[in-house]
Amino acid sequence: QAKAAGKRQYRFYAQDMTRAAQAKLHLRGQLSRAVDTGEFELHYQPLVDLATGAIIGMEALVRWREANGRLISPATFIPLAEETGLIVPLGAWVLREACTQAVRWQVAGHPDLVVAVNVSVRQWEEATFVPLVQQILLETGLSPSRLVLEITESVLLSEPVEARRQAEQLASLGVRVALDDYGTGYSNLSQLQHLPIAQLKLDRTFVHPLPGGVRDQALVQSALTLGQALDAAVVAEGIETDTQLQVLRSLACPVGQGYFLGRPVPASEFALQHLQP
Ligand code: C2E
Ligand code: MG
Ligand code: MG
Ligand code: MG
Repeated sequence: QAKAAGKRQYRFYAQDMTRAAQAKLHLRGQLSRAVDTGEFELHYQPLVDLATGAIIGMEALVRWREANGRLISPATFIPLAEETGLIVPLGAWVLREACTQAVRWQVAGHPDLVVAVNVSVRQWEEATFVPLVQQILLETGLSPSRLVLEITESVLLSEPVEARRQAEQLASLGVRVALDDYGTGYSNLSQLQHLPIAQLKLDRTFVHPLPGGVRDQALVQSALTLGQALDAAVVAEGIETDTQLQVLRSLACPVGQGYFLGRPVPASEFALQHLQP
């Protein structure tokens, strides 16, 4: 009896696995076609100077607009794009599009805006990554100092020496590198010390508990201290409430990002919401 039940359970499990694998295969095919047909769009979220409240730039965040109009979040397809290597052409499109948009807004009267673009490890490790960045800057006319490339600590895992060399190359071009989701990954302080990073993006899990207790604030404070030591501006991610904003301001955190300051929105809406004279 128990054996039969076990068998039955196994069969259900196997069917689920097959279904999951099939769904993934399906998604993979869709994604591959979407990269070819360009079914992606960028949304932009403001980066705010916390002392003055001024918008200093925006992070470009990719979305997949399916033919039926449904919007798919990057959390769903970026991992698959990374796994399949489709992130390489997709990432190049994102970079080109974000730089193009930044130039449009600069020309429209916002010359100081900075655009931040996420770069996954797979892209970062392409031998042609730095030349691609150079080429896109040349093509779009964006000044290198107006571009920030967001990487995660994972780039330090496999090739720390190479990662450092490449970050130095980008820095010498004038492009800034930001460390995204700081505090969630494996952070080897001695490796960070040698990585030329211009920004430390404190993960929202540290912002969420604020005002919290002494310990919660001490963690934010330690990131701010590290930022100072590394000569990197700290960007607090995921500010959702006025209280969180006020605590971060009182701690003198220089830059913030989050729903309370502005949600990611399409370019036209970003201009309406944030770039009105
Ligand atoms: P990320 O780079 O850390 O981007 C910030 C994420 O936090 C975004 O999610 C943003 O919408 C969300 N967020 C912003 N403010 C708040 C807030 O106040 N509360 C909460 N709960 N969330 C907030 P999104 O757009 O879904 O992107 C998720 C992740 O997908 C990004 O995390 C990034 O790792 C990746 N991603 C997005 N666009 C790209 C891209 O073009 N290329 C690559 N390689 N990865 C991307
Ligand atoms: Mg990011
Ligand atoms: Mg982040
Ligand atoms: Mg992230």
